[in-house]
Amino acid sequence: MKQLKEQLSTLFDKYLDEFKEINEYIYNNPEIGRQEFKACEILSNTLKKYGFETTVNYANIPTAFLGKFSSGKNGPKIAILAEYDALPEIGHGCGHNIFGVTSIATGILLKEVMQDTIGDILVIGTPAEETFGAKVEMAELGIFDDIDIAMAVHPTGESHKRSGSSQAMEAIQFTFKGKTAHAAASPHEGINALDGVITLFNSINALRQQTLETSRIHGIISNGGEAANIIPDLAVANFYVRAKTLSYLKELVEKVKNCAKGAALATGTTLEIENYETSFANLVTNKKLSEIYEKNLKLQGVTEIGDGGSSGSTDMGDVSHCCPTIHPHFPLTKAHLIGHSVEFANATIQPEAYIGMKEATLAMALTAMDIFNNKDLLAEIKTEFINNKNL
Ligand SMILES: [Zn+2]
Ligand SMILES: [Zn+2]
Repeated sequence: MKQLKEQLSTLFDKYLDEFKEINEYIYNNPEIGRQEFKACEILSNTLKKYGFETTVNYANIPTAFLGKFSSGKNGPKIAILAEYDALPEIGHGCGHNIFGVTSIATGILLKEVMQDTIGDILVIGTPAEETFGAKVEMAELGIFDDIDIAMAVHPTGESHKRSGSSQAMEAIQFTFKGKTAHAAASPHEGINALDGVITLFNSINALRQQTLETSRIHGIISNGGEAANIIPDLAVANFYVRAKTLSYLKELVEKVKNCAKGAALATGTTLEIENYETSFANLVTNKKLSEIYEKNLKLQGVTEIGDGGSSGSTDMGDVSHCCPTIHPHFPLTKAHLIGHSVEFANATIQPEAYIGMKEATLAMALTAMDIFNNKDLLAEIKTEFINNKNL
């Protein structure tokens, strides 16, 4: 394993200038979800250049891609997932530029060291993590169902962080409709839609006391009326409801919807409820797979590995319900970084960022080789996955 690590390290250093160039190109050309044409092109073309069979418009998503290398026999299928969408205004404040490059780097290095190893490497380009979450669509299409393991490593600050959990999430929009009237002259002739929204907020605030600590319910009033002297006939609230598991999310969403129904009844308004963004499942980390990844970080001399987070939501969650998955983090710097900030984006192109990137790339490649070469490991990973499913 030490020898393989050295070989991967030399290969990474050999390709580093090219990886840097791609990272900086995506950094300088930030594209928001489903518009990542430049990033998709450069990442998939680089895989093609190094011998991967590539498909763009994968899963009928214009900026998704698949890079595949198969040793030609029936072996484990290992997927490395790439993200490369940016945020409006602040560009790569979530670091998906270096995320994408790390994923293709892992594929390229793995292919070079595979030799007689039997198995498939799939590098899957998954757009719009920040918004529509293409992995959710891909999961629904069954793309991850015959994959043996999936890995994706996200940048962060301070230190490596082991794969944690994330919250299952539903984005719900409540539209209350009433009737306008002069707010001073004839308020009794109006039906106040804003009162529906305010009652909804108050009911949810009461509900909050009876929810599990690990859940979150947070919302805004996206339309609260036109003028203070008109009884609003339309008011809209957008909420995110998050929970640790899909089953608790379902229960909580039902209660939140009941708050809205109660608010409509109390105010005499009519109510429409719809999902305004893609819902995400919670991330279930495969512990065995996570242990192997951690062992391979330590093999490189990494000593500081923190715990992964549990709040927030990601479409990697949906992948983790289809196949054994890990989603750890690698450090861009030893300093603390605030996610979704300009400072975070800047950190992705500093020399220090490539230290963490190299460690993550090698740890993913070594983990893949461990699984290609040891059937018992994969069996253990799969047993855990099945047991988790039955919970
Ligand atoms: Zn983000
Ligand atoms: Zn992100």
